[in-house]
Amino acid sequence: FVSIGELLAHLKEVNDLEERAQSLQDFVDKDNEYGRYLENGPATLMNVVSEHTGEKRECILWNVNHYLSLNRNSNVIEKASHALRQFGTGCGTAASSCGMTSLHKEIEQKLSKSVGKESAVLFPTGFTTNLGAISCLAGNKDLIIFDRECHSSIINGIRLSKAKKWISFKHNDVADLKAKLQRFGDAFENIFVIVESAYSLSGDLAPLKEITSLKKTHKFYLYVDEAHTFGIYGDKGQGYCYELGISDQVDFIISTLSKATASVGGFFAADQKYCSLIRFSDPYLFQACLTPADAAVVLAALEEIENNPSFIRRLHDKNKYMRGLLTSKGFNLGNSKSPIIPIFIEDHHKLKLVVNELYLQGIYSTPIYYPAVKMNQGRIRLIVNYAHTKEQIDYTVQVLEDICRKHQVIGNKDSDLFV
Ligand code: PMP
Repeated sequence: FVSIGELLAHLKEVNDLEERAQSLQDFVDKDNEYGRYLENGPATLMNVVSEHTGEKRECILWNVNHYLSLNRNSNVIEKASHALRQFGTGCGTAASSCGMTSLHKEIEQKLSKSVGKESAVLFPTGFTTNLGAISCLAGNKDLIIFDRECHSSIINGIRLSKAKKWISFKHNDVADLKAKLQRFGDAFENIFVIVESAYSLSGDLAPLKEITSLKKTHKFYLYVDEAHTFGIYGDKGQGYCYELGISDQVDFIISTLSKATASVGGFFAADQKYCSLIRFSDPYLFQACLTPADAAVVLAALEEIENNPSFIRRLHDKNKYMRGLLTSKGFNLGNSKSPIIPIFIEDHHKLKLVVNELYLQGIYSTPIYYPAVKMNQGRIRLIVNYAHTKEQIDYTVQVLEDICRKHQVIGNKDSDLFV
């Protein structure tokens, strides 16, 4: 098996527990990308260590979602350290018990204001935000229609819900969504349409204006996951719904706090009554809060974003620069627009080779294989960061081009990689 994904897909058919566990053990025992870790917290240039050989390699990092490098911002670090001294380490229990501190409350107020909603609820992670919110919103007479590329936390939230039926629509295809709304329109008590503002594996932005305009003719609640846009779209990071001026037409906005805001946690923002409902979801009731230091990071990060609009501008400038360079070399970047840049490589073996050779030349990136994406849509995912230098971008694109030419994923007219 080239990828762990393929192996996992295969193992779904294997009932024997020992065999399943051993197959995975054999896979991770090999020296591959799954046995690598960072010597230190992420920055754009890092030592990457091999668990198997102990070898350290200095690499430009392309796989971290801290778009604005606020995990390395001195004001953020100072405020987190101060919170540690003032509030201690863990919260000790769930928010519903007495885990909430004044820091957590302040985050909820700031976030609801930022995304333009009446209220917000803080969760310990982005993943459990989706689990809690979706499972709590959808009842047993309801339908959920979701984009086919939605994140695993959304799919699992749907599975946990009591919804009578759930169906997907073709990725970013408003006509398909409309057809499904027409077909199922009256048969359910409530309909929820769930999408992401930017998709984590393709970097595509959702056609949110077109989706909200369907509300003129169809009745549904719109749920948008802004994990990859909150903090980096909108002049002060208010998110993509805000940037498009459609926040009031989106019923529920959620996001993680582990990406642009460089902490952990997630939030759900909506009218007060829906927030009250969500506070009765299991992940909110029964899961410990994010720590005071994590909360202080979120607050400090929000302040940094608000006070430094140049952070967002520079990120998008770098994204534009890198895309321009890749496109000029002939790379096909699909429909991506956000700072997530996919480099499509159809052949799994070549994808693995390219990623490994990039690593050997000091470029650390994430390969994405089937079944995370369709069989012929394997890709390398490069996540642009505000702190990437021009030299790091130029070097990465040059090496990528050289390696792709060598493996003939360039200049091959059948290849997905080059247009
Ligand atoms: N939603 C989306 C769209 C995501 O991409 C992710 C994380 N990759 C999450 C939710 C979960 O967030 P977290 O990892 O912070 O729990």
